[in-house]
Order: sequence, then structure tokens, then C-alpha cells
Amino acid sequence: MVKNKDINKFFKNIEKDMKSHVNKELLNTTHEIECPECKKKRKIKFKNGKGKCKYCGSTINLDLNFKK
Ligand SMILES: [Zn+2]
Repeated sequence: MVKNKDINKFFKNIEKDMKSHVNKELLNTTHEIECPECKKKRKIKFKNGKGKCKYCGSTINLDLNFKK
């Protein structure tokens, strides 16, 4: 017999894994966002949440809460 407590723990771990996976994907992908410097929509490639506008060279920190 399987204990309920163990099942809950099991699902909690899956949820945790999925969330961190999603964040990782978001932090290492290309986003089309407005560059704070040139005020134009640019495709910025992000790595670990940091991207660089190749037009003006400004560093952009990816805000994961930008989809409010
Ligand atoms: Zn720019």
C-alpha cells in the first residue's frame, strides 16, 4: 500500500521540476521585446536572463514578470 503522503511529495517534486524547467527555458531563449534604449521591438536572445540589444548594445535583464 502506498501512503498518500508519499504521493503528494511525488507530485510536488514534479511540479517543482516543471516550474524550474519553464523558467530555464524562458531565461535562455529569444524574446521579442521593446528595447529600453532604442524603444523599438527587437528580437533579443537571452542567456540566463540577460540579453544584449545588437542595435544599441545595451544590456537588458529579462523580467520574468513582464507578462502581467
Ligand atoms: Zn536597443
